[in-house]
Amino acid sequence: MNKHYLIHTYGCQMNVHESEKIAGILRDMGYAACERSEEADVIVFNTCCVRENAEQHAFGNIGMLKKLKKENPGLVVAVCGCMTQQGRFAEKLGETFPYVDMIIGTYNIDKFGELLEKTLSTKKRLIEILDKNGEISEDVKPFRSSFPNAWVNIMYGCNNFCTYCIVPYVRGRERSRKPENILNEIKGLVKDGYKEITLLGQNVNSYGKDLGSGVNFACLLDEIGKIDGCFRLRFMSNHPKDLTEDVVLAVKRNKHACRAIHLPVQSGSDRILSLMNRRYDGKQIREKVAMIRKHIPDCAITTDLIVGFPTETDEDFSDTLAMVKEIRFDGAFTFVYSPREGTKAAVMDGQIEPEIKKARIMKLVDVQNGINRDISAEYVGKTVEILVEDYDEKRKCYLGRDERGRMAYFNSDSNIIGKFAEVEITSTGGMSLIGNVVSIKG
Ligand code: SF4
Repeated sequence: MNKHYLIHTYGCQMNVHESEKIAGILRDMGYAACERSEEADVIVFNTCCVRENAEQHAFGNIGMLKKLKKENPGLVVAVCGCMTQQGRFAEKLGETFPYVDMIIGTYNIDKFGELLEKTLSTKKRLIEILDKNGEISEDVKPFRSSFPNAWVNIMYGCNNFCTYCIVPYVRGRERSRKPENILNEIKGLVKDGYKEITLLGQNVNSYGKDLGSGVNFACLLDEIGKIDGCFRLRFMSNHPKDLTEDVVLAVKRNKHACRAIHLPVQSGSDRILSLMNRRYDGKQIREKVAMIRKHIPDCAITTDLIVGFPTETDEDFSDTLAMVKEIRFDGAFTFVYSPREGTKAAVMDGQIEPEIKKARIMKLVDVQNGINRDISAEYVGKTVEILVEDYDEKRKCYLGRDERGRMAYFNSDSNIIGKFAEVEITSTGGMSLIGNVVSIKG
């Protein structure tokens, strides 16, 4: 009888992909996925400490396993990811949840199989938090569950030290994968029928700097552009200071690259950007946006925004609103600042009261939603190519996105997941699009 695993993933796409790697390792060891804790032999919590709610959510869910572990002492409970990479969390976890069997950090996830074997054979709690990253392992084959989309790491870590961010402390310095390994992985995915490939890194524009071979992100995009096949290419995330004209031109000439660039500006206030250590100001952001729109006029530009950073005044917040209205981002991930222990911003004077943060985020979301609705309305009457990603059981229709990232809903009599569909947009449902399939491509 197969043994079973269950993985709970918190946080960003980087973590989702790391869970796919853990799933790949477990499947190689003969485990199969299950959906209920009661069926599992191994339960993994792949944690995130970038957002406060992800942290609290993970703690809550680990706490719920106490009874199950009592009933099934053979169950292995493993906690990994960036929350455990912070030593104090590993300690707190160990003390709060004595039934957790494995606590490992971010640098040894590729060794998950070996560490699990060791835990099973010794029947003792294993804690392994390495304080520096080793070589990038190319041995782990992720088990992907996101067809027709696939995520491919091109680099790990970050050198930027934005004052609100914990990533450089828990993910280490930038390390790039060799281009040939990335290209081989992408060729394999295209051969397996994946239709949208997203390159992942904390700051993809820094790709290659550590390799010393002269290869950079623009070169990598050009090489991927030479791969035959019908697939879309996306990448995330960019640091605006490092987004060069070379990269934008490489996107423009790449036949696979979506006309969509994520430019996480975080704030529209020069004073707050300086306190965040972002190393650009509002003028430079506007110049980058103009440069993108000059070369790729129809390029979607999306962003990340934080409100309530320490000392943020009404005037600073107004600068953010003004930038959002002026640039008209195609979409924004909006966040309320929450202090991350160990970062510079967490100990800054002038932390903002929760009710002020709440009022600001509501205002910001309202403004951005209005822009989103207006942009969606401009689609009505047009026919756009949609990659069909899934079937929505609640709405009883298919869904997918155009290359600019806009979500569309439509009907089909046959299963068209993984295909490109020409969809005529007939109306909008708030920010998303609603339409009819005109034709299907392979
Ligand atoms: S660029 Fe800044 S926000 Fe992004 S991962 Fe690096 S330190 Fe964090």
